[in-house]
Order: sequence, then structure tokens, then C-alpha cells
Amino acid sequence: MTRLRLIFSRLSIRWKLAIWSSLLLCVLFLAYNGIQYFVINQWMFHQEEKAIQKNMEEIQGYFTAENGNAEEIMNSHAFINSINESHQMIRILDQKGAPLLTVSEMMPEDWVQPEVAIKTTMRSSWHGEEHLLIIRSPLKTSQFKGTIEIVNNLENSDQLSNMLLVVMLAGWLGAIVISGLGGIFLSRQLLRPIQSLTDTMTNIKQKGLQERVEISNSKDELAHLSKVFNELMDQLEQSFHNQKQFVEDASHELRTPISIIEGHISLLNRWGKHDPNILEESLNVSVQELGRLKGIVNELLELTRAEADSSSRYHFQAVIRDTIEYTLKNFIMLHGDFVFHQDLEALEQAKININPNHLEQILLILLDNAIKYSGRIKEIAVEGLLKHQRVYIKVIDQGIGIPQEDVPYVFQRFYRVDKSRSREQGGTGLGLAIAERLVARYGGEISIASTSGRGTIVTLSFPLSG
Ligand code: ADP
Repeated sequence: MTRLRLIFSRLSIRWKLAIWSSLLLCVLFLAYNGIQYFVINQWMFHQEEKAIQKNMEEIQGYFTAENGNAEEIMNSHAFINSINESHQMIRILDQKGAPLLTVSEMMPEDWVQPEVAIKTTMRSSWHGEEHLLIIRSPLKTSQFKGTIEIVNNLENSDQLSNMLLVVMLAGWLGAIVISGLGGIFLSRQLLRPIQSLTDTMTNIKQKGLQERVEISNSKDELAHLSKVFNELMDQLEQSFHNQKQFVEDASHELRTPISIIEGHISLLNRWGKHDPNILEESLNVSVQELGRLKGIVNELLELTRAEADSSSRYHFQAVIRDTIEYTLKNFIMLHGDFVFHQDLEALEQAKININPNHLEQILLILLDNAIKYSGRIKEIAVEGLLKHQRVYIKVIDQGIGIPQEDVPYVFQRFYRVDKSRSREQGGTGLGLAIAERLVARYGGEISIASTSGRGTIVTLSFPLSG
């Protein structure tokens, strides 16, 4: 049994389905055919009983009406012959059980021994292979007492029932074969998408993440599974690509300050130790580049934090106007050469679900950019308004702006429009990426509208806190 189970467990689903469907059909057909065979057999036997009983009643009626004696009964051969059927014997016995009259058609008399009946009995018995139905009934007239015996050979109905059995068995075997084949066909049809999934997975293992499952037109569960699998692979490929890009970008960004520091240190090593000018300059540059390195590492850390779990966002609440005013106050102090305009009346006491430190961090990034990329007009405006249950905050500058083709990319990590200029300004290309992730973490949106040479408007929007 365990061996059988082991073999079964090793079979493919296709074969398992075929075997199970055959087995199920086998049992169902067997039960159905068995019941049918039993009912038909019973019905046929009942019909035979009825027929033989009718014969008996006819003979009884005839002799009772005639009120015949033994002699007359012995002479009623013609009448008995007329009701007898093939494979049947009718016998009339006297009181002691000796046959007075025997009429038989295709049935030897000695197959059944005569027997006196006290009451009507009906039974079936066997003579060798022959199945017999025997009815015995007492015959009473005023001049005679005896027994009527009718013996019927059930050969015909037995043959019919055997034929029925053969046909049913053949049908049963046919059904098993057909259901087995049907099971194989059906499982092949059903499992095709799974096979395609397996093939795709194998391909992914061998060739890479770009492989996808072919999706059929059907709308069943397996088509849905293939679709979900493809979507999952899209996400995986995208995140894999992003990770790769991130590592490439990060190492590229880190490499520049490291190379500069390395260059200056080897310069010092070769000539600079005794040249105060070189020593001074190289140390200055190295300190500056180390600061940059530290900045990049810190910002990368910020970025990872900004991408962290957003489940805790509803624990915080910030009165937007207060946070903006507080941040701006610090900026105004640090950048005396800039003119700052504030229009925050519309916000009043509006609150949003955000950690005030994070809102401050986002504003710092935007204001810092506005200052870094300002042109001749050193004016920065911060506006706030409420619309459709959302808070909008705009940071507007009139600086160098961003060329139209670069706008879609500025939120990408390490993306800088003008690399050398941004580097000069101490930019890492991470500020807007961090801001975007922080904004998204609190269910907000950030967008940029900019005209090269005219200025930039960065718009933040958040849902109002309930
Ligand atoms: P960075 O640290 O280089 O400033 P950001 O992610 O903050 O990085 O910005 C990405 C790029 O978008 C910047 O390099 C700059 O070219 C451009 N940019 C961002 N804000 C402004 C702005 N207010 N005006 C002009 N260009 C901007």
C-alpha cells in the first residue's frame, strides 16, 4: 500500500488526474450498472412469475368449471397443450403424486420430480445449468383431488440477462478507457498554462528576468495566475534594475571624491610634504571632498529612511503654517541676500498627517535648491492654499530653471541637470529623490513646473488631516 502511494505520489498531475477520473467513473458506472442489472433481472423474473401464475389460474379455472373427474382430466391433453409454452412442462398429479397428465414442450420430464402440493407454492431451482421456475397448486373439484405442476425453463430470460451483463461490462470497460483518455486530454488542456509557467521560470533561471509567460485569451484562474506572475516579474525586474542602477550611481558618485582625495594624497606623498603651498591646497581639497563624501553617505542614509515603512504615518500631525514659517525664518537668517515672500494666509490652522521634522526636511531641500539654482533675481516665494480637502504648498524661484526634457528625470537618484554646476553648488542629485519619497510616504504628491532661464515652481500637495 505504501509502495503504491509512493508510486502515485511520483506521478505527474496529468496522470494523477487521469487515474482519479477513471477510478471515479469506474465506481460510478459500476454502481449504476449494478443497480440497473439487479432491477432489470428482478423485473424479468417477476414477469415470468406472472405468466406462469396466469397459466396456473387458467388451468384451475378450466377444471373447476368443468368439474371433471380423473378420466376427464387425463383426456384434456388438447386444452393443456393449447396453453403450454415452449420450454415449459404442465403436469397434473393425483392425490398420491402420480402423474395423470403431462404436457411438455422442449423440457424432459425427469428434470423435476412430481410433488403433491397442499397449498400454492412457487420456487426457482436448478437442474444442472438450467434455471427452472416451478409452481405447484392443489386442484380440487367435487370428483377429483390432485396437484397441478407447471415448470418453466428460464433459459430465455437468463440468456437475456447474461447478454445484458456482457453489454454492461463492455460499456463499463469502454467508459473507463474513455474517461482515462478524457482525463489525460483534459488535464493536458488545463495544465498547459502551468507548463508554460514552468517553462518560463526555467528560462528565467537560465536567461534572466526579462522572460514572461504567454497569456491566453481565457479569463480563468490559470490565466489570472499567469497575469499576476508577469506583473510580479515586471516589479521584480524593475526593482532589480533600480537596485543595479542605484549601486552603479552610488559607486560612481562616491568614486569622484575618493579619486580626488587619492590624487591629492599621492601628490602630497611625492612632493607636497615639504611644500607648504601644495600641502595647504591638498589638505583643503581633501577636507572639502571628505565633507562631500560624508554628505553623500548621509543623504543615501536619508533616502533609505525615506523609503522605509509608511505604516506609522498617521501617528503624526503638523500645523503646516507653523512648520513652514519656522523653516523660512532660519533660511531668512542664513540668506540675507535673498528676498522671501510668504503667502500662507489660506492655510490658517490646517493640519496634515506628517512628522513635522519630515515636512521641514522636504521644505529645506526645496528652498535649498531654489537658492542654489537662483539666477540674478534673488527672490523666493512660498505660497499655501487649500482646495478639495488638500493642502497645496508652492516654492517658487526665478532662477535658472530646468530644461523641459530634464524635468521628468529630476526625481531620480543622482540625476543632475548640469553636473558640473550642481557639483560646484554642493549638489549630490539626491535631494529631490529624498523629498519625493518622503512626500509619497505621507500620501502626498510633488510636481515641478519649470521654464529654462525663467524659474521653477515646485508644488507639494497633501490630504488634509481629518
Ligand atoms: P542636487 O543635490 O543636485 O540639487 P536634487 O535632487 O535636489 O539634487 O536636484 C536634481 C537636479 O534638479 C539638480 O541637479 C538641478 O539641476 C535641478 N533642480 C532642482 N531644483 C531646481 C531649481 N529650483 N531650479 C533649477 N534647477 C533645479
